Amino acid sequence: MQDSGLSQQEIKQKLEKLLQQDLSFSHGRILGSMCTMPHNFAKEIFTAYIDKNVGDPGLFPATAELEDQTISMLGDLLSNRSAAGFILTGGSEANILALWTAKTLYKNKGNEVLIPESAHFSFDKAASLLDLRIKKITLDKNYAVNIEELKNQISPNTIALVGIAGTTALGVVDPIPELSRVAQEHDLYLHVDAAFGGFVLPFLHRIGRSGVPFDFSLPGVCSITIDPHKMGMSVIPSGGILYRSARIASAVKVFVPYLSGGETALATIVGTRSGASVLATWAMLKHFGRQGYTEVVKRCMELTDYLAAAVKEITELSLLAEPVLNIVGITSNIISIQELAKNLRKKGWALSLFDKHIRIVLMPHLKHEHIQKFIVHLKETVLNIKATNKI
Ligand code: PLP
Repeated sequence: MQDSGLSQQEIKQKLEKLLQQDLSFSHGRILGSMCTMPHNFAKEIFTAYIDKNVGDPGLFPATAELEDQTISMLGDLLSNRSAAGFILTGGSEANILALWTAKTLYKNKGNEVLIPESAHFSFDKAASLLDLRIKKITLDKNYAVNIEELKNQISPNTIALVGIAGTTALGVVDPIPELSRVAQEHDLYLHVDAAFGGFVLPFLHRIGRSGVPFDFSLPGVCSITIDPHKMGMSVIPSGGILYRSARIASAVKVFVPYLSGGETALATIVGTRSGASVLATWAMLKHFGRQGYTEVVKRCMELTDYLAAAVKEITELSLLAEPVLNIVGITSNIISIQELAKNLRKKGWALSLFDKHIRIVLMPHLKHEHIQKFIVHLKETVLNIKATNKI
């Protein structure tokens, strides 16, 4: 650290230079991220209220009240206006908190959690942190959790099930109605990870696509992760955890006597929490309403259809699964998908590579012309790989 400070102007110039290597959502090259450029209005609200700490609710009672309103609006979207919950840093924190809650509620029963193989790696972190035993359940031919295997794996030590409403790899939705029935039958906690799907699935029926049941309308669902910083267009960081009831939400409450806002009980992992994230999300929900989010989803799904149709036309490629959400999984049994990803990355496309497929997430920052250009490069790259490998 240097002795005397630099001027703000010097620092700004330095930062501009130092950050040149970072990609920007607005350049249309980021094809593999589940985050997007936050809406300008969300950014404005976030910066205006950057000092709010909703982890000391006695100091910021109005922000705390607006967090409750945010949770009620999200609850309304997920078929439960009386849901309780919090705005957090993201889906990982929400999933860890959900399993902490499950462990606390079922502490006398056991420590085993059944999760699909497709679950996000945050569940592995949760298991390690919370000393839970994770049993991974295989997937069926449609990449959803295999319900029969899941039922067979339930033991007296099982306390919770996890279902995914929009998997990280492919956007597949697990059969949550069946998971809900199984959870009720065996008295298990059911957590649904809709970090990505939570801001897409509720709007699909409004654009003439079939929605899939996944939310609190299913009686066995105890908690849901839903991330405003993914398809909710809010700022990074904003994640969300919603619980069916205040009773469930308060399972992990810790009493804090010393805060300057007065004694309180906190039921989140962190103490200090960004009120600005809460307010930006509140503002986005108010500004967009169901209609605004429907428009966002409509555009993303149109782009998804466009890319999916183009992939189907390239003989060497195919879709790993028919997209339900705005995620396209590109695979091939003719050329190496790893080589394809490597060469596309060299051309500047930031995409995600999984074992069997390349994942493209059609987020709101992507426009038709970006995908059009990508399709041109995709076709070219496939031909080059074929020529190089004499296929
Ligand atoms: N859950 C799902 C289904 C995800 O796809 C992701 C991230 O991609 C997460 C949870 C974790 O979210 P975050 O990166 O905000 O912690």
